[in-house]
Amino acid sequence: MSHSQIELLQEEPTHHFHPLVSSGPKTDAQGAPDYLNDNGDSADARRAFSDWASGRAVRVEVQGKPEGTGTSFVHSENAVKAQKVTSPGYGPWALRYGGHQFGGWADQLGDGRTVSLVETINPTNGQRVEVQLKGAGRTPYSRFGDGLATLKSSVREFLAPEYMAALGIPTSRSLCVTALPDVSVEREEMNTAAVNMRIAQSWLRIGNFEIHARHKEWESLRILGEYVSKHIFGWSEVVTDQGDAHRPPWAARLVQRVAESNAVTVARWQAYGFMHGVMNTDNIALTGETIDYGPYGFMDLFDEDCICNHSDYTGRYSYRMQPTMTLFAIDKLIDALAPVIGYEIINDQAPSPGVLQSATRSDIAEWTDAADAKREPIALSLQRTMLGEWETVWAARLGLLKADKELIDSLQIAITSLDMTRFMRGLCAVPEKVANNSPIECIAQSLIEGASHVQSDTGPSRVDLVTNWLKTYIERLCAEGRDAANVSAAMRKRNPRFVLRNWITDEVAQRLEQFDTAFLEHVREMCARPFDEWQDEEVRLIS
Ligand code: AMP
Ligand code: MG
Repeated sequence: MSHSQIELLQEEPTHHFHPLVSSGPKTDAQGAPDYLNDNGDSADARRAFSDWASGRAVRVEVQGKPEGTGTSFVHSENAVKAQKVTSPGYGPWALRYGGHQFGGWADQLGDGRTVSLVETINPTNGQRVEVQLKGAGRTPYSRFGDGLATLKSSVREFLAPEYMAALGIPTSRSLCVTALPDVSVEREEMNTAAVNMRIAQSWLRIGNFEIHARHKEWESLRILGEYVSKHIFGWSEVVTDQGDAHRPPWAARLVQRVAESNAVTVARWQAYGFMHGVMNTDNIALTGETIDYGPYGFMDLFDEDCICNHSDYTGRYSYRMQPTMTLFAIDKLIDALAPVIGYEIINDQAPSPGVLQSATRSDIAEWTDAADAKREPIALSLQRTMLGEWETVWAARLGLLKADKELIDSLQIAITSLDMTRFMRGLCAVPEKVANNSPIECIAQSLIEGASHVQSDTGPSRVDLVTNWLKTYIERLCAEGRDAANVSAAMRKRNPRFVLRNWITDEVAQRLEQFDTAFLEHVREMCARPFDEWQDEEVRLIS
């Protein structure tokens, strides 16, 4: 052992932050990380993480390390010394994926401006986390792109997840955005560049399967499917090595899982008026987390046909179409996995290594056809899950134990071209007003006034529409017979007072150009606590 190795081992921090087995870096640190067995004390892990994320620590592979794990975090001042005694075993990674963009197959896309750094487990909730940098430069998949991201798009992707998480919508998160004032990014105009450090349980998308299937890379498809089943979804019985063991089927179950989780997520988007804008299959996460925030928008004036992406000329990804587009994406995942799904139906077990690769074209065609049996059941269960979740979230927003499609549809008609957020926040007072015997027309009038941006929205036909809906709604409230004050209070925890409108993210970005970070922090706080009774200087932001 050389002198520098001894020095390194002595100075190495005692806390360990081992990545999991991953699609990227090679590591021999298998199984549960040490810090999960330390009786719940997560301080060390947090410190290790922040040391690493801030650049104070770097991860290196140390040859001859006594514990045999071979990989460690060391403080960055030791990194140079560490380099001398390491072998190349770790690096950030970018993944290849394809995708259907606006309905057409776009072939290979891939992580063109993101690199993943590490996969690990969040010690507080046991969930996987994959840490990624977006906008950190070109990758092997950058194609004609510059690998960069603008400060504006990065800060939009920083704020939206905070707001989504506060609403209870599954989402990726952003840890920090670092502006790069010395780097300009050319888009329609010149922009300041930024790097966004973002996390998700996994950044794998439907497009990761599609690219292998389209290129008939059946072994890669199988390996990825087994990896996702076992390591992302935690199905420990899935067999991933050669062996003669019975191989439990996983493919249809995997699609079912992706369908269900995305159904829940999109149901919540619909109930809160979130529009993703680019639901291409390369932007649909296998975990169901909302990812890749681009031209997203939260509904201002309620309009089912609202399109938030100005380059979506046909309205393919309009608010109304989002559930249908979820079905489309899941159908593409079935297409990609069809040979495996069919093989499993016919053989009652998953394909072993080599089976798919050595299959004839007619075998693949037969298995692909057999997979059709799963299409309808998966589509039906997606629709059922989505409808059920949508009714559940709407019921909570309405202060009801149960809400049906008819009541919600008629509400959406009644609030068309009114401000969705303000109407719903106003509605929180209705149970109390009913208990105080306020006349229904007065309630309707004040709800409409509170949610109108222009006078013409307040005419007699609008009052009739809202009054009629209120009659049914109030009947339901009364039939459930719950305490009005409690119901109103519960509704105020489900109907935000603050909504992250596009003009707000625009203003945040403009002020950041002037190095005003205080405004960003202010908006971030409002995103994180959107149900609070924001007052005074915040009034401008909730109007
Ligand atoms: P998006 O529309 O952001 O989902 O991106 C679609 C594809 O284009 C993905 O594969 C991205 O990685 C890639 N891409 C987008 N912007 C850039 C860029 N500035 N440089 C390189 N690749 C990019
Ligand atoms: Mg994308």
